[in-house]
Amino acid sequence: MATPTRETLPALMYHSVSAVGGPLSELAVPPRRLTEQLSALTAAGYRLVGLAEALDLLSAGTTDKLIAVTFDDGYRDFLTAGLPVLAETGARATLYASVGHLGDRAGWLGRWAPDFGRLLTWDELGEVAAAGVEIGNHSLIHHPLDVLPPDQLKDEIVRSHEELEQRLQLKMRGFAYPHGYNGRRVRELVRETGYDHATEVGRRLHRPGEHRFAVPRLQPTPAHSGADLVALVRDGGPQLVPQVKRLAQPAWRMTRKMALRAGRNLT
Ligand SMILES: [Zn+2]
Repeated sequence: MATPTRETLPALMYHSVSAVGGPLSELAVPPRRLTEQLSALTAAGYRLVGLAEALDLLSAGTTDKLIAVTFDDGYRDFLTAGLPVLAETGARATLYASVGHLGDRAGWLGRWAPDFGRLLTWDELGEVAAAGVEIGNHSLIHHPLDVLPPDQLKDEIVRSHEELEQRLQLKMRGFAYPHGYNGRRVRELVRETGYDHATEVGRRLHRPGEHRFAVPRLQPTPAHSGADLVALVRDGGPQLVPQVKRLAQPAWRMTRKMALRAGRNLT
């Protein structure tokens, strides 16, 4: 089990703020559970902020115990259920928008797409930004980026970036890799496009001194009580997971490449 330093940054990766059953249930934390989780972290002395803000505070030498709170994809329930929870618990957050799907359904969830699969419209995303939530980029079509050919990769990163900045009139600083997959080529293009950090899945704690283009995150699920989450951010969870993931990565990457060639969409 890792020994966290004071400057260790736990980052949380949420998706939908709702309750669903079935195979995607871990992607949805109901509002009451989210309130319990965030309140427990605040009560344990943590300050909950968006990821860009957390990294800025760390750079400025803060001594606060920080947690970065992030939400991926941009589900509509973030506006209706997520924002009220953030207001109630005094937490700040980052939301990563899947740009090409805004106003539509989360097509990449395929046949499993549950009720929560509806994404914010552009106007609604503007409302979220106006409420003080940091907006970040989650690409256009939500495909794993590390297996895309150069032209398509550029499209996914640069076009989504330009569209977000133009339509929201905000500077984009953070990028979240769809499904977490990245590699040097992907990270370099994200940096060249103007981002100062990016985030993956990782399932461990971010440590100062590590580069900022694959900040790892922990995934709270509906099964985590407030106390469970306090324990998770303290030690980063079971350290076996990243090791297994690293071992399995080359084979899984090949599988995804083959799926891309066959035109299939992986969830
Ligand atoms: Zn996503």
